[in-house]
Amino acid sequence: STPVAMFCALSKAARLGVLFKGAEHLETLARIKIMAFDKTGTITRGEFLVADFRSLQDNISLNTLLYWISSIESKSSHPMAAALVDFARAHAIQPKPEKVERFEIFPGEGICGRIEGNDVYVGNWKIASRAGCTVGFDVQGKSIGYVFLGSSPAGIFCLSDACRTGAKEALTELKSMGIKTVMLTGDCYAAAKHAQDQLGGALDVVHAQLLPQDKERIIKELQKEGPTAMIGDGVDDAPALATADIGISMGVSGSALATETGDIILMSNDIQRIPKASRIAKKVRQKII
Ligand code: ADP
Ligand code: MG
Repeated sequence: STPVAMFCALSKAARLGVLFKGAEHLETLARIKIMAFDKTGTITRGEFLVADFRSLQDNISLNTLLYWISSIESKSSHPMAAALVDFARAHAIQPKPEKVERFEIFPGEGICGRIEGNDVYVGNWKIASRAGCTVGFDVQGKSIGYVFLGSSPAGIFCLSDACRTGAKEALTELKSMGIKTVMLTGDCYAAAKHAQDQLGGALDVVHAQLLPQDKERIIKELQKEGPTAMIGDGVDDAPALATADIGISMGVSGSALATETGDIILMSNDIQRIPKASRIAKKVRQKII
């Protein structure tokens, strides 16, 4: 196609808030056959609410537990961290991040830190093995979190998140364009399935309980079927965004690493702009042929 046609397409996309880092990505986007979406913060809002929180140890009050974990989670930028800090504040608890030592992040698993002499682990079932314990169950479509003090289970909580407005429409439109839609999430299967159910059949495949390197591995497998795009927002999505034929990052709420790694940046949280940008890319391509 002519440079003028490409320039027009790029500026049209930019007006929709879809920024291409290079004109070559127009051509690749037009060829995409598979789109893999992260769940939390991409298909869903990434605004969790704590639905329930229980202490599992009789000698530790819920408030003490909430004080410890909100202090540690204050040091994390994960959407679940914000929910836990808000939940603690709603219980009149003031988190004290300055009291936390040896803070550590385990991407796709959770976090840990030492506070008031306790090694506290917060995260999904995978954090259990970091703490030296085993657990595992799913509850009614919610994301489940665990708290460990050393290797002792100390708390359990569940959180809920909702699909973004327009997520169903976006995926339905992509499917009508003949694109296979996939979800790749680090969250539990029950939460992933719950999101899939809200999308009215527009999501073909769900992969849950993934670490960052698992997302990357699945992208490589999908690429054997055809050109594949990855859409994500988190640090945990960066390897998959880099490996995919096209990486699309959420520009507003996304992590800096995701925005740096993506080839296309979505300057709004509206994923309906993705099929719109695809149509623009296809139109430019049709002029070539
Ligand atoms: P997704 O792929 O859906 O964006 P992530 O890879 O960011 O999810 O996280 C995967 C899982 O790891 C979360 O669902 C959560 O259970 C756990 N997790 C990660 N970070 C934290 C944290 N700071 N606090 C609690 N749980 C966490
Ligand atoms: Mg995410």
